[in-house]
Amino acid sequence: MTATPSVTRTSIASINPYNNEVLREFPTMIDEEVERAVAAAHEAFRGWRDLTPDERAIVVRRAGELMLERRDEFARTVTCEMGKLIGESQGEVDLSADILRYYGEVGPALLVDQPIPVEDGAAVVANRPLGVLLGVMPWNYPLYQVVRFAGPNLVAGNTILLKHASNCPQSALALERLFRDAGAPEGVYTNLFVRGSRVGRIIDNPLVQGVSLTGSDRAGASVAEKAGRNIDKTVLELGGSDPFIVLDGEDFDRTIDAAAVGRLSNMGQSCVSAKRMIVVSDIYYDFVDRLRHRFAALTPGDPMDPATTLGPLSSEQAAENLVSQIQDTVAQGATLVLGGKRIDRPGAFVEATILTDVRPGMRAYHEELFGPAAVVYQVADEDEAVALANDNPYGLGGVVMCRDLVRARRVAERLDTGMVWINHPTSSSPELPFGGIKCSGYGRELGDLGIQEFVNKKLIRTFPTTSAIGFAQG
Ligand code: NAP
Repeated sequence: MTATPSVTRTSIASINPYNNEVLREFPTMIDEEVERAVAAAHEAFRGWRDLTPDERAIVVRRAGELMLERRDEFARTVTCEMGKLIGESQGEVDLSADILRYYGEVGPALLVDQPIPVEDGAAVVANRPLGVLLGVMPWNYPLYQVVRFAGPNLVAGNTILLKHASNCPQSALALERLFRDAGAPEGVYTNLFVRGSRVGRIIDNPLVQGVSLTGSDRAGASVAEKAGRNIDKTVLELGGSDPFIVLDGEDFDRTIDAAAVGRLSNMGQSCVSAKRMIVVSDIYYDFVDRLRHRFAALTPGDPMDPATTLGPLSSEQAAENLVSQIQDTVAQGATLVLGGKRIDRPGAFVEATILTDVRPGMRAYHEELFGPAAVVYQVADEDEAVALANDNPYGLGGVVMCRDLVRARRVAERLDTGMVWINHPTSSSPELPFGGIKCSGYGRELGDLGIQEFVNKKLIRTFPTTSAIGFAQG
């Protein structure tokens, strides 16, 4: 007689949001399989940690090269699974490969021992790996989110268990294959097909030493609570409702370009996105009008077609959630300048939407709108812009558009966010740290800071044998 599995197997489906066709289904893992994967990752850690950073970096660099060789396959998988416009999916592959290249080339240098001057003998802080890490990742950038966690941590010597979002299983498998083909030994990078509700049990496994979650604040709080009980290190990259502050009408065409790109990239399903446009009074009406023209010109269609400019959202549920947020906000008294409804065609399409006259108490004032929906606010001056920008539970990114760079920098300093871009929509590149404050989480990914999050900053203090023995304290 076989033992009863501890959790019934269900399935994880890859569904094309363009037409709601089920592409593939995969069985979820039962507890025993997950435990075996954790044990294998722990076992693999023993060998992986003993390689030099340079040796581990070869695998990560190779993964970057392979990703570019498989550019078309990766991009098509992403577009099929979550509806991203094909050109943006290709851009995501390029950025992800660049992140792997960056850590493959620069990672070892970022991990060198740091000597500390002492009066006698030597002291050094050595950067050593922690062990098995769990990554819990979202669907909106199915490749980029994973590599910015896995790339640096593999170079640092940790081993990775990756629980991807339940709606992008094909991307998850393609990434596991990528690291295996790049030369990662068995157990060094393992995909876990489990649902979010099972993550807590994995964190309870004492072999897991750290967790990085990118996703909603709800999921982040749940993971942080569990990790706290297990005294595991966490990094949380959560939601955002970024301000996009426009202080003057100089370079107005460029400002409108930045606003539209900032809000519509990834169909508005980006953590850093111009979700709250805050515009000074003298140019406010002109701004709304020009933005309306830009949004109204979008063409819905197949995200595989390079001519399409308005693709579907990631799922039916995502589309329904967005429309309900918009409709509730309008019912609460906001003005609907454009859009606001589902598009009458199959798939998870929502009209590009602009809301104005949004006030405290309305849903769109407090909640993150994850889709092609902009809220535009009118403010009298710089002080009012900053006050409105900071009146939000999130603190991820922000943008200041202003030709006077001294003024722009002054406003940037006053924003309660982890990142600010001046005169450009938010973006990401391998060498720049990425992360937020407040309900947007803590810790940083990318750059030097990103590789330092899950390392043991191990002090090794050496005394000459001739030195006197002092008091032990600590
Ligand atoms: P989500 O529901 O939090 O899902 C993200 C991941 O967490 C998925 O793998 C999900 O698994 C898992 N999960 C869900 N509930 C969980 C729980 N209680 N315990 C442990 N894991 C859990 O987020 P989403 O709606 O897919 O993603 C959008 C959110 O991510 C937005 O708020 C966006 O702003 C944020 N985001 C932030 C960043 C950043 O860098 N700060 C980047 C991208 C996205 P299942 O799929 O199985 O439910």
